Amino acid sequence: MSRIIFDNGTHRCIVFDDILNEGEVDMEDVQSNQFLIVNGDQGLLFDPGGAKVFQPLHKEISKFIFPRKVKKIVISHQDPDTGAGINYWMIFSNAVAYVPQLWVRFIPHFCRQSLEKDFFTPIPEEGMRINLNDSEFILLPAHFLHSAGNVHMYDTTSKILFSGDMGTSIFPFTAEFEPVEDFDEHVRFMEGFHRRYIASNKVCKLWANMVRDLDIEMIIPQHGRKYFKGKEMVNRFIDWVDNLQCGIDLFDRNIYTIPSE
Ligand code: FE
Repeated sequence: MSRIIFDNGTHRCIVFDDILNEGEVDMEDVQSNQFLIVNGDQGLLFDPGGAKVFQPLHKEISKFIFPRKVKKIVISHQDPDTGAGINYWMIFSNAVAYVPQLWVRFIPHFCRQSLEKDFFTPIPEEGMRINLNDSEFILLPAHFLHSAGNVHMYDTTSKILFSGDMGTSIFPFTAEFEPVEDFDEHVRFMEGFHRRYIASNKVCKLWANMVRDLDIEMIIPQHGRKYFKGKEMVNRFIDWVDNLQCGIDLFDRNIYTIPSE
């Protein structure tokens, strides 16, 4: 199912949050959200998902735009749930795919056919800006959050920050896709993931410091059914990240011991 979360007449942002429910997809797979931005007659996909997701997503997208009008695809990092279906998008769209520079020689392993030289564009370590018609997107460095080469995407028109794995929450699939209302209550759904997957508080602080300079109306993660809407919630989430102890901050010799069985 699709949900329009921003629409000003010419610019629309659409979330697909339960594509795994459709078609023949294993419900054991991690739930993931895919994103389509349509500006005028052109589309951009952010983290279009794995191979199994391609067919139902392609069908849903066609309700908003002719899939061949998808001109740009951004893959936030190398995980299969972000872009393992890229092979199909190469065939069924006329898009260019932007991938973090660190992974530009790895992500093509998802593809079967010999690659057109121009299909993959590396996103430099410091990030970059791209356009869709007249609208601008900032591909922000988000390295080690969680992947060593990672980007987030800020849409300057909708003021939405698509935050990849940051903000992931683990919910029962029956939960509604909706804004977080009680932040303190919500923390327990995010904590486990962030403490294990996100590299360290050092990069959390660098990220928080960077995104505070953006005018953000919503932060929408790649996983989970909840997102952060409005300045107050956005700031609460950024503050939480700023102070998060995670990853190697929490690792010690108790973990690095030789298993006895
Ligand atoms: Fe990931």
